[in-house]
Amino acid sequence: MRLDDFDPNINVEDQRGQGGSGFGGFGGGGGGLLFAFLPFIFNRFGCLGVAVVAGLFFLLSGGLHFADTGGSGGSYAPTSATRPAGGTDAKSSCTIDASSKVACNAFSSADKTWAAIFQQQGQRFVAPKLVFYSGNGQSGCGAAQSAMGPFYCPGDQGIYLDTSFFQELSQRFGAPGDFAQDYVIAHEFGHHIQNLMGISDRVTRLQRSSSEVEGNRLSVMLELQADCFAGVWAAQNRDRMEPNDLQEGMTAAKAIGDDTLQRETQGRVMPDSFTHGTSEQRMTWLKRGIDTGDYRQCDTFAGAI
Ligand SMILES: [Zn+2]
Repeated sequence: MRLDDFDPNINVEDQRGQGGSGFGGFGGGGGGLLFAFLPFIFNRFGCLGVAVVAGLFFLLSGGLHFADTGGSGGSYAPTSATRPAGGTDAKSSCTIDASSKVACNAFSSADKTWAAIFQQQGQRFVAPKLVFYSGNGQSGCGAAQSAMGPFYCPGDQGIYLDTSFFQELSQRFGAPGDFAQDYVIAHEFGHHIQNLMGISDRVTRLQRSSSEVEGNRLSVMLELQADCFAGVWAAQNRDRMEPNDLQEGMTAAKAIGDDTLQRETQGRVMPDSFTHGTSEQRMTWLKRGIDTGDYRQCDTFAGAI
């Protein structure tokens, strides 16, 4: 995409150059679920529960409306010294290297796009923050490690990115191109939107009383919706899309489907353990967002179970 340069007023935090995981206790802790781009962190809902049906009814009747309150708020208490050594402000952090610039430009564009959508709906938009870290970092949801892949922490409304993931995306997952990278940011931004809309809270509550399998299915719906929201962002900036962007997005979505990843890493596929959706589902929902440009078309929860 031909995106504008980032707005220097975006919220950027930089944990790079802080000497890895050297800092002590994590303040906030709580925070709730991480919504990762890749299915590396998951499965903490082990409880048996019978409230799934009632809960789902509540969820679906809530539809895709905006929540009155801004999501799960947060118990995040920044711990002492997080003085950015990678960059001291958005401008310096975003221009450290090409990957940072791509991330900031996409983040800034998504910020603008979703703020406008919320404004049209008469809803208050709260901007998230983009947090750069390298190797190890700390988030309001606990330790951040690059092996997790990029993730969103609802507790501190942060999108956490180790930009080395972009190289991984290109080399290990075979999904090169700027749009593949934009998609990563837009997907995580989608989780922030779900947080603001109260969707994540409803899903988290349901998961607490769900079986593991049911919890995983809810996670898939949430993840596919974030893919769709990513597509909505792209569609809202359609005039900036380049001819190969759609293909780059589809290639990335395909590469990170649960079935594809499991086949590659385990040699077999276990649908009950899917947390992000199959390659086909991820491509379908990303494309749905791109085709419609309408977040209301992203109701992955309806009829999906
Ligand atoms: Zn996700």
